[in-house]
Amino acid sequence: MIRNCNILLRRAVNRSTLISRRYLSSEAILDRIKQDGLLCESSIIDGEEVYGSNTFAVQDPATGGVIGTSPDLSVDSLDQAIGSSLAAFKTFKRVPGSERSDMLTRWRNLILEYADDLAGLITFENGKPFNEAKGEVMYAASFLSWFAGEATRIYGDMIQPMSNSTVRTITMLQPIGVVGVITPWNFPAAMITRKVAAAIAAGCTAVVKPDSETPFTALALGQLALRAGIPPGVLNIVTTKSSLAEMGKMLCEDPRVRKISFTGSTAVGGLLMKQSSSGLKKLSLELGGNAPFIVFEDADIDQAVSAAIACKFRGSGQTCVCANRIYVAAQVYDEFVDKLTQAVRTFVVGNGFADGVTHGPLIHERAIAKVERHVQDAVALGGRVLVGGSRATGHASELFFQPTVIRDATNKMLITHEETFGPVAGIFKFSSEQDAIDAANDSTVGLASYVMTKDLSRAFRVAEQLDFGMVGLNTGLISDAAVPFGGVKQSGFGREGSKYGIHEYLTVKAVSVGGVVY
Ligand code: NAP
Repeated sequence: MIRNCNILLRRAVNRSTLISRRYLSSEAILDRIKQDGLLCESSIIDGEEVYGSNTFAVQDPATGGVIGTSPDLSVDSLDQAIGSSLAAFKTFKRVPGSERSDMLTRWRNLILEYADDLAGLITFENGKPFNEAKGEVMYAASFLSWFAGEATRIYGDMIQPMSNSTVRTITMLQPIGVVGVITPWNFPAAMITRKVAAAIAAGCTAVVKPDSETPFTALALGQLALRAGIPPGVLNIVTTKSSLAEMGKMLCEDPRVRKISFTGSTAVGGLLMKQSSSGLKKLSLELGGNAPFIVFEDADIDQAVSAAIACKFRGSGQTCVCANRIYVAAQVYDEFVDKLTQAVRTFVVGNGFADGVTHGPLIHERAIAKVERHVQDAVALGGRVLVGGSRATGHASELFFQPTVIRDATNKMLITHEETFGPVAGIFKFSSEQDAIDAANDSTVGLASYVMTKDLSRAFRVAEQLDFGMVGLNTGLISDAAVPFGGVKQSGFGREGSKYGIHEYLTVKAVSVGGVVY
């Protein structure tokens, strides 16, 4: 069933009545989101709301309650979405960069206007505390500002020093075409804008398959994109649950789709790469991490503890750049462990809408079971739990885990080799700089890494030797629209954000001009 979006009418809500969500119940927040037309229970194809005959329920991990349903669409709908994106591309690629920039700016402004609604949706679907969700909305909006700037600065080159003196070459940077975008649940807004803003800035069109745990944030962004005047077909959003594998395959194999941009697990990234090989499709893969966090004996320990908290426990440990292995020099091991443990004791676990809550639930039972397995394995192998260590009880759902610190971690433990993706900090001891570097690099993945030291020479020496796409020196926060985000090894390839991000969506065409004679 297809219905007209009728979206502009929904802006009738008086924004001046916006009030702080901190003092509203989650039911009142949901009512506000509905009033604003941002609880979208349809997919968006060619600017239309598309409802399927089948649906799947989207649950609040903090309560287990159903927030709403999304269409469980089939590959026929994906086929329609790809067709719509291809048709839109034929005209959109010729829209001047300045106009694409204006569209992105208008979209950003609407995201900021409805930031509370979007943050509410993120808290409902993902569980992260409302303030943290609001931070994600700002982060998501920052990619629109960034790429609105980039859209007006897509420069080719003129190459004169050719081997043939009568020839000059001009390079043209052109949009690659229709992009297939697949995103995860842990940043339901930012993972979409980081990709789609770059694609639109370049003149591409996109078909997005959002995570089935968090489709509502994606669809609200899609609604706001339409309200911002981004033409139908430029951003199609297709939801599914039962046709996931077929849709993934179709996006990879369909020749109308010229590029895949994926953020998610290394396993699924590998599958998409294999499926894309027959058509030699261009890929950007932002995959799993297993970040080392190295604290040297000369570090400012308080600063190191704050940085560890920022990058280990954000999103209850469910970010790809989370510190997963914390290596601390023997001389400062006890001090660091004590201070981290004290800080973790102050965390408040609960429903992300409740005042004072610092850490929400994990996303689903599989996630919490993995965390439990990692803790039990560490304890069996000699790790000592200083705080936490088990599920947090007394909440409305079973998905809460106590923030946990484990000392005496060793490289035999699962936490060394697998991404825990949960609020568990395993702390390892090292005795030399080289040991720390070798341990950090002993991983099949290489996304983020962190180094805490006051020694400038050591900072560069270690940063240069770490096999990771990103290094945080004396900081636990490395994500920014200005930073080239991405990994090496099995963390994938491609860079998002920064001056490099837009090039993932452009091809270089060389136009050689002959007959230049003096
Ligand atoms: P996941 O299972 O790989 O899911 C990510 C997305 O891929 C979801 O939309 C999922 O759909 C979809 N998907 C799953 N199987 C598919 C298939 N056969 N074909 C097409 N799409 C498919 O990842 P996750 O475990 O939910 O997310 C966490 C992972 O993402 C972690 O490893 C984390 O490190 C990584 N991550 C990386 C970055 C980065 O920038 N490098 C950022 C965030 C997260 P459904 O929702 O329907 O299952």
